[in-house]
Amino acid sequence: MAKINLKRVISKKDASSIINAFINHMDDFGNIRNLNGEILIGKEGGSVANKCPILANDETIGWVYGGESSSLLALIISNFVNNHILNKALGSEALDCYDELILMQEVSEKLTTEYNPEKVRNIIIGQTKEMFNPDSVSIMFMNSNTGLLEIVASFGMEYDKKVVMHANEGIAGNIIVSGKAEIINDARSDARFIPGSNEIHSLMCAPLKTKNNIIGVVNVSSNNPTDYTAANLKMFTTLASQGAVAIENAQYTEELRKHKDNLEEMVKERTKELNDALKELATANKTLKQLSSLDGLTGVSNRRHFDELAKLEWKRALRDKLSLSLVMVDVDFFKNYNDTYGHQAGDDCLIKVANALKSVITRETDTIARYGGEEFVAVLPNTDIRGAIALGDEMRAKVESLGLVHAKSDVYKRVTISVGVAAMTPDKNSSLQELLANADKALYKAKHKGRNQVCC
Ligand code: GH3
Ligand code: MG
Ligand code: MG
Repeated sequence: MAKINLKRVISKKDASSIINAFINHMDDFGNIRNLNGEILIGKEGGSVANKCPILANDETIGWVYGGESSSLLALIISNFVNNHILNKALGSEALDCYDELILMQEVSEKLTTEYNPEKVRNIIIGQTKEMFNPDSVSIMFMNSNTGLLEIVASFGMEYDKKVVMHANEGIAGNIIVSGKAEIINDARSDARFIPGSNEIHSLMCAPLKTKNNIIGVVNVSSNNPTDYTAANLKMFTTLASQGAVAIENAQYTEELRKHKDNLEEMVKERTKELNDALKELATANKTLKQLSSLDGLTGVSNRRHFDELAKLEWKRALRDKLSLSLVMVDVDFFKNYNDTYGHQAGDDCLIKVANALKSVITRETDTIARYGGEEFVAVLPNTDIRGAIALGDEMRAKVESLGLVHAKSDVYKRVTISVGVAAMTPDKNSSLQELLANADKALYKAKHKGRNQVCC
């Protein structure tokens, strides 16, 4: 017990006024002395018939000298002393409580702002160390799949972290079942205690309780005899329950994060699949469009494509005031060819002619199309009549140079073509039909003049 300053206690206002009033009514008062014999009230040489002890919790801390009523005065002073002791104790307890409260508030703040499970466990261990200065601390989780308690974090433990125990086994196992925190100040005398390689003497064990579950326990232990108090256990239990909520929150947050990552990964995969599919679709569409605009036999543009393209180029030429040319091609005496060599050979011949016509075209903007039967047409944007005639003659020469035998041709005994060329710079008074008709007329002229030639 801390030393009591008797002089200070009896000189306090409330005490001194009562003590002095009492002394004034005593006719046999001697003096009041402390244990050193120092006179605190009264003077030397007074009545010393009685020597009555002043007690602080049964311990003598001074004397009242005097007559018979000295014992009553000693009792009154003892009472003031004990009140003083009590007040002091209450004051320091209040201070302790205040410190604990501040500490718990700090822990609570740390725990509620941490969402990483491992860091939460470290905070619990760190705070337990700070509060109780133990030799070891461990956090055990209940594995609901195996029914085993496993150490998931520890401090000062010598044994392997993988050490596990069954629920209901050992002190920790019992706490899981009872759900109540306990102090075991002498572990060796507790039948439930399973000694490990640590020299545990005293321990506290608190459940990690969430709203609906007990998810594990926290153990704090000392290797020396330690008197863990009810106040210690209260603090420890509070820490454990705050820790449990934080652990659950952190686990939940981690699960959510994983779930989110998975979702993001899935979305990424799906997006990639979708993009791939879109790309494939775009390619397929392009192919389809190409196929639908090509002639099945010869592979040059078909009539439908020619019609669209001719309209488009006409508009463009009108807008840009440029010359647009058409080259009409017709195989000479092709009926005879079919009749002589058969329809299949006729088809093969058309393919060869189409390829020959195509090979003459070099500009990207020029297009060759099958106009119908054994007739072809070339659309030549931004080309005047001279350019178109030149190209038409190249076509004619190219087909002739194929040297495809045509015994029933009246021209040359080889497959030849007649070519009609027309060009126009469109204006609001002209039309595409006019241009087509001109090309047709030119072709007719070429036929009429003896075939295998170009007319315009
Ligand atoms: P001309 O020199 O005056 O043009 O005489 P031609 O015999 O070529 O003219 P005509 O219009 O009388 O005959 C065209 C022939 O082309 C008739 C037809 O059997 C043939 N023909 C049209 N399309 C095809 C085809 O896809 N394949 C084959 N093998 N023959 C075709
Ligand atoms: Mg014809
Ligand atoms: Mg013909």
